[in-house]
Amino acid sequence: MTQNKLLLTSIFGPYGISDEYAEGAGMQMELLNNQITREQGIHSPRQSYWSFGLYLLAINISVPAAVLDFPLWDDFTKELKQGYTHIGISFIVPNVYKVKRMTEYIRTHYPGMKIILGGYGTIIPNLDEIVSYDELCKGEGVMWLRDYFGEPTDVPVKHPVLNGPAYESIYGFSSKPKGSVLLTGLGCNNGCVFCITTHQFKKKYIPLLETGKDIFQACQNAKMELGSSGFTIMDENFLKIPLRARQLLKEMQTQKRPYVFDIFSSAEVIQEVGVDFLVRLGVRMIWVGVESKINSHAKTKGIDLKKLFNKLQSNGIVVIASAILFQDHHDPETIQDEIDWVISLGSNLVQFMNYTPFPTTALYDGLKKEGRLKKCGLQISEWRR
Ligand code: SF4
Repeated sequence: MTQNKLLLTSIFGPYGISDEYAEGAGMQMELLNNQITREQGIHSPRQSYWSFGLYLLAINISVPAAVLDFPLWDDFTKELKQGYTHIGISFIVPNVYKVKRMTEYIRTHYPGMKIILGGYGTIIPNLDEIVSYDELCKGEGVMWLRDYFGEPTDVPVKHPVLNGPAYESIYGFSSKPKGSVLLTGLGCNNGCVFCITTHQFKKKYIPLLETGKDIFQACQNAKMELGSSGFTIMDENFLKIPLRARQLLKEMQTQKRPYVFDIFSSAEVIQEVGVDFLVRLGVRMIWVGVESKINSHAKTKGIDLKKLFNKLQSNGIVVIASAILFQDHHDPETIQDEIDWVISLGSNLVQFMNYTPFPTTALYDGLKKEGRLKKCGLQISEWRR
């Protein structure tokens, strides 16, 4: 019997260019320069992050697994020669034509290789008409892969030591990134109608690091291996479990080992835990969804966001406020009001996103029911209202 061997890969580069596989600016593989500091032009820091999930998957299954992160096409075809029985490709929606090219190549040259697709790209409703694949991994991948390969699923999940960002530079000068990334959990139970994260995990939160002690240990491991003392926590709503954050602070105090963190959290939990707690926890930057003044969500109801941001920032915590444009109530006048409102909150940085009805979300279902999704070509284009 052939021994299973798994290649886990992200989609191939180059990125941020307009060609038959990609859409140009919307495909840019950068967080800051793409979403937050694009308008700052030459003054924008430049950095990019690894495909963290692949490393988590690779160390949590017994099947021999290799990770190929953001390869060029030649790297990808060269690696395939290493005798894999399975390939797992992680992708997001705009990269679907890159996946199509990769899978066509595999079917032609390695017809026996099983193709597993994962990541947010798997929400495309007619994916099987675009891409040839054997399995779709939706939701949390470690348990899915263990189950698929017939391995025990009750083994604790190990956290990889993750360096991040992959590179960083400003004004053309590079520095060696010393930070690290923590994957503390997936999903969010707030259930905002437009949010793909909450719907991908069925409005549930799936912890990967369950206790504050687990998080502290992951920090210690990264400190030992990489010398990291600053961490980006990739968790859509980290403070939603205040107990775990409190345990983490207690552990740092007991061990006399402080770390600093960049986090994402919704306003109601920031209010609940309080700014003083965040300062003591070592929060350096916080990313908050304010979304809209008029179409407000439960997470911001009754909260004086301006006051909250002012308090966070006057205590040294950088705030990124995230808002959504092109909602139902937006016309040329109201959209400007909304932009002015977000700016008036006074956060250090602002992100504006498009109100996009991604399949699987309540927003998509609602618009579909009302017959308000446009039909034009492939179904992925229908999501444009
Ligand atoms: S709070 Fe944020 S992560 Fe949670 S459902 Fe709302 S938008 Fe999504």
